[in-house]
Order: sequence, then C-alpha cells, then structure tokens
Amino acid sequence: MSKIKVATVWLDGCSGCHMSFLDLDERLIELAEHIEMVYSPVVDPKSLPEQVDLAIVEGAVSNEDDRQKALKMRAHSKYLISLGDCAVSGNVPSMRNPIGNERCFQRAYHELADMQAQDPATVVPPLLERALPVHEVVKVDLWLQGCPPPADAIYHVLTELLAGRTPDATAVSRFGA
Ligand code: SF4
Repeated sequence: MSKIKVATVWLDGCSGCHMSFLDLDERLIELAEHIEMVYSPVVDPKSLPEQVDLAIVEGAVSNEDDRQKALKMRAHSKYLISLGDCAVSGNVPSMRNPIGNERCFQRAYHELADMQAQDPATVVPPLLERALPVHEVVKVDLWLQGCPPPADAIYHVLTELLAGRTPDATAVSRFGA
C-alpha cells in the first residue's frame, strides 16, 4: 500500500504545535508505516512536492511570506489541517491586531528596549495589517484547536483520516488546551 504524503509548515507560531507532533514519540514509528513526511521543518527535504495528500499548517498568517506559504500549501495539497490556536484563531500573534503595528513596534523596540532601541524594519519582515487565522487566507478542511493540540489529539486526527473517516477534532481538543 502506498503511503500518504504529508507536508507541514509553521507560519507565525512558536513551533509548539510541531513539538506536540513530535510528542507522538513511538507512535511516529507506527504512523511512518502509513505516512511519508515529504516536507516539513522537522525533516530534511525542504522543497514542497507538486502534490501532497495532507498539509498541516501551524501558526497565524502575519506577513506576506506567511501568506505565500499558506497559498502554496493549499495549492499543492488535497486536504489541509489548521493546527493549533494560532492557525485556527490567530491566538497570540493576533494580540497585536487591536493595538496596531506601529504602536506595537514602538512599545517593543523602543520603549521596552533595555540596551539598544532598534528599527523594526531591520529585524521584522513587513507585517500584514492584521495577523490572520489560516482560514481567512485559504480554504481549511479541518481545524484542530489547542495551544498546542495534545499529541493524543493529533494522533486521533491522523489515524481517523488514515482510516478514511472524518475526525471529530472538537471531541479531542479545545481552544487553549
Ligand atoms: Fe505555539 Fe500555541 Fe501557537 Fe501552537 S497554538 S504555535 S503552541 S502559541
């Protein structure tokens, strides 16, 4: 039986959702019988194949680079999971939305600078006006909440998909879990 091809990416996230994926521990070996990780920060291949079966996206869409990555993942995948609260709702990255980029930059890079105030334009890529949940940029097939979603929830979703069923992600994880 051929393995399903899986790609993962992290956008504006802390990598905690990917760490939760790695927390599957020995179940990764079981999953490797059915899944081939073809593109991800946690594997060596760094170019996205023309077509993957499953794309998993961590993080909010905060800048143009994130937006391009989300569009690319969607264009090259059959099924896309929005993984974790940052991807699902904007979560931590979207805390800047009501404040505005300029005010955030002023506070972070000047007012709170203990040593050396910096020009954010030299250290931060140009931000979108708002940090967006992934589904505001591309079509999402499944949302898995949690900060991060527990490894058990990721395992449930993956094994249900492998069995040809639609997982009930809300039954296994919730916002902020
Ligand atoms: Fe990190 Fe939580 Fe965002 Fe995942 S949902 S990227 S663990 S802050």
